[in-house]
Amino acid sequence: MEEKEKRTEIGELGEFGLIDKLTAQFESYQPGTVKGVGDDAAVIKGGGLYTVVSTDLLLEGIHFDLMYTPLKHLGYKAVVVNLSDIYAMNATPGQVTVSIGLSSRFSLEAVEELYAGIKAACDYYKVDLVGGDTASSQQGLVISVTAVGQVAPAKITYRSGAKVGDIICVTGNLGAAYLGLQILEREKQVYLSEPDTQPDLEDQQYIIGRQLKPEARNDMVKYLAKSKVVPTAMIDVSDGLASDLMHICKQSNVGAFVEESGVPIHPEAQQMALKFQLDPITCALSGGEDYELLFTIDPKDLPEVRLLPDIYIMGELTDRDQGIKLHTKGGNIHDIKAQGWRHF
Ligand code: ADP
Ligand code: MG
Repeated sequence: MEEKEKRTEIGELGEFGLIDKLTAQFESYQPGTVKGVGDDAAVIKGGGLYTVVSTDLLLEGIHFDLMYTPLKHLGYKAVVVNLSDIYAMNATPGQVTVSIGLSSRFSLEAVEELYAGIKAACDYYKVDLVGGDTASSQQGLVISVTAVGQVAPAKITYRSGAKVGDIICVTGNLGAAYLGLQILEREKQVYLSEPDTQPDLEDQQYIIGRQLKPEARNDMVKYLAKSKVVPTAMIDVSDGLASDLMHICKQSNVGAFVEESGVPIHPEAQQMALKFQLDPITCALSGGEDYELLFTIDPKDLPEVRLLPDIYIMGELTDRDQGIKLHTKGGNIHDIKAQGWRHF
């Protein structure tokens, strides 16, 4: 972690001073936020909608590495990955809470960097920070974000709603975030053995950006709403296509047939995979953290969905007995096995 010239100990401010300082610059965007930071609980207006809630816990050394993750990016990503879960329900997030555990290693300036990233995400996605908790941690940094969103009951998308014959779609491209992580990990190892060498990020801004500063696909939820298409099932790709597709198949009681040629991979990810002697399709299937949306649609909606940008048709759902298969470009058919990210 880079040390700034100025270092203010958190102990000088105390918990309440810290909370005030961190939350003061946040604006409110949502008419549904009745009460934000400052009371025992936040108050959010309901209406005739479903409220969806999602939470994530991020631990230093397990989910992030501060050797190559700037605190501002970390704050941004911590919010974005939660919003992504809300969008995956076809809902619109309105509020987040952020809880942090800090050791004395972190100065006020460092925590302000983290919050600058949290604020950038709140500003970009127009969500309100309405609360959180602050505690001290013995060692690493701990961040937990909870996001709250709303959706009309008729539009909610569960993992369990897919049917045989539905079309499998995915947004954006897959595998790049995993390859970005490979570059960062490699440079970390080089740095640890030869601290004088400069990191060689190979001009891979796109790939590294996919790892350090992912975005959630709020645009897709808007496009789908505009074209009046409700996916039959939806999930965000956080663990990798194989694992996330398996969740849809399991919960919907179906199989899947995926065309390798339909799996979108960015050209820079393609090249970098080959450089690492990895198969690009394996990176797309098993790499995680792309935060794209994987969804299934009824075939009758295909003409509408085809008109939307940045959506790729990968295959279709089959009978459960057929399993989850990949039809390779070479004409072979393989089982898709979920490996995904397992931190345990
Ligand atoms: P309590 O003792 O009731 O838990 P706190 O003193 O922890 O209250 O929090 C006071 C207010 O500040 C609450 O509205 C809480 O949600 C908010 N808050 C606490 N920590 C954070 C944080 N890290 N980020 C944002 N809001 C926070
Ligand atoms: Mg508290």
